[in-house]
Amino acid sequence: MKEIIIATKNPGKAEEFKTFFAKFNIKAVSLLDLSQSINDIEETGVTFEENAAIKAEQIAKLMNKPVLADDSGLMIDALDGRPGIFSARYAGEPKDDNANIAKVLAELEDTKEPDRTARFVCVLAVASPDMDTVFKKGYCEGKISVSPKGSNGFGYDPIFIPKNCTKTMAELSSDEKNNISHRSNAIKQLEDWIETI
Ligand code: IMP
Repeated sequence: MKEIIIATKNPGKAEEFKTFFAKFNIKAVSLLDLSQSINDIEETGVTFEENAAIKAEQIAKLMNKPVLADDSGLMIDALDGRPGIFSARYAGEPKDDNANIAKVLAELEDTKEPDRTARFVCVLAVASPDMDTVFKKGYCEGKISVSPKGSNGFGYDPIFIPKNCTKTMAELSSDEKNNISHRSNAIKQLEDWIETI
């Protein structure tokens, strides 16, 4: 593998993966770098794996090159795993992090501390025209706070307290978050896999 397409139009994610693949002499190009414009792909799956695979496999077929796609979200035990794959738009359209947080807190209003456990999940799918799609999954365990705190990060970070931590994810620095995040855990597993191929 000499070059891989990263199925994202998010510049932050693109940079993170470019730095990661550079260590292996693999050139990573994001959808923002391609001269050919790729339409947004509808995430019609019912799991993180299906949604990541749909994106990676469709673009791999179109471009005839290896493609990495990711899908992530928050799973709350007391809500039977919701918001899950619906994390980005849990409170409806348009996508609104504050509205999503308000909805989660309202749904957990009667749920006391020991039952507020949750985890962030990140699934990476690597699809290529000449191999079966490979999946790597990372978690970050924690619990949901009673009110939002902190201004770093994005999404549900202000209400997610990682395990063995007293602050919310949004009160951590980006280095502290990157050390423990679901995405970095999935990327570590990708690293182990790349070393074997
Ligand atoms: P995506 O698949 O990475 O775009 O994530 C989908 C949604 O999950 C985001 O819009 C957020 O609501 C939530 N999410 C994923 N990762 C994180 C995170 O690291 N912190 C907070 N929220 C996240």
